[in-house]
Amino acid sequence: MRTLLTLLLAAMPMLAFEYDLTPSKVNVSTYCFFGKPEVMDTHNNGNMSNSCFVDMGTGYLVIDSGPTYLYAKQAYALMKKIKNLPISHVINTHTHDDHWLGNAYYKEIGVNIIGSKEFKNEVKPEKTRMQMRISKEAYAGTEQIFPNIFVDNKKVLELDGKKVTIESVNKKAHTNSDLFVYIPEYSTLFAGDLVFNERIPSIRDGNINNWIEALDTIKSMDVKYIIGGHGEIVDKTSVDATYKYLTQLKEKISSAMEEGEDLDDAVNSITMEDFKNFKMYDGMHRQNVAIAYRMLEWEQ
Ligand SMILES: [Zn+2]
Repeated sequence: MRTLLTLLLAAMPMLAFEYDLTPSKVNVSTYCFFGKPEVMDTHNNGNMSNSCFVDMGTGYLVIDSGPTYLYAKQAYALMKKIKNLPISHVINTHTHDDHWLGNAYYKEIGVNIIGSKEFKNEVKPEKTRMQMRISKEAYAGTEQIFPNIFVDNKKVLELDGKKVTIESVNKKAHTNSDLFVYIPEYSTLFAGDLVFNERIPSIRDGNINNWIEALDTIKSMDVKYIIGGHGEIVDKTSVDATYKYLTQLKEKISSAMEEGEDLDDAVNSITMEDFKNFKMYDGMHRQNVAIAYRMLEWEQ
């Protein structure tokens, strides 16, 4: 019996990994696939960041292509079920691999991909985290495909008579390649990983001062919806958790420094009561303290 089963299994074609994505409607024209507040692993296979699409009229605009080729392919199949539209552009908000490795699929179907002019400088020629941490089945077909259109300071698209403003932060904030996307017609702003909610942000590749400054700019904008790279809050309050975490962290590190605490002391002493129940606090907070401490020390 077991031999028969083994033979049957061997004869079956290898099944593609199924992400079981569900689009959530944000407003009349905007939908997102919201990722889980988790680290990438062989269970979520990279479905831990947000990928969104906007119906502009005769085509979709996609914000972040997701973690793999298969994710992007399955996402577009679901978009077409809502309305059978082509995709005009994909925008990559930054270079972290959970946000753009779906580019391989979009390139295959001939879509233009937009990213920061820093994109090529920032992506290291090495295996991606996704490649190392998710299953081979889920990673199948994935390649590092860079954008083919680059944003220097600002780029304005006109899609079906509606303006889409793509703005570069132009200094290292969450990364060195952060873009945010504003669609006035829908009062919607896509903030990429400048905005995390429901989990602790990662400041590993960032600069805490510039990040706070970028959020000040975003907070000052008159928009109804602000959609981050992680988390499902989509109104203007979506910014609050990241903003509060970064400003509190900066204050706490500054006072620790004033009291003569070295890096190890600070990592051990700085806790954030308001965020202890956030996802990924245990794995990420201490690391954030260390990174921000070094950075603030350097800038002193
Ligand atoms: Zn990121």
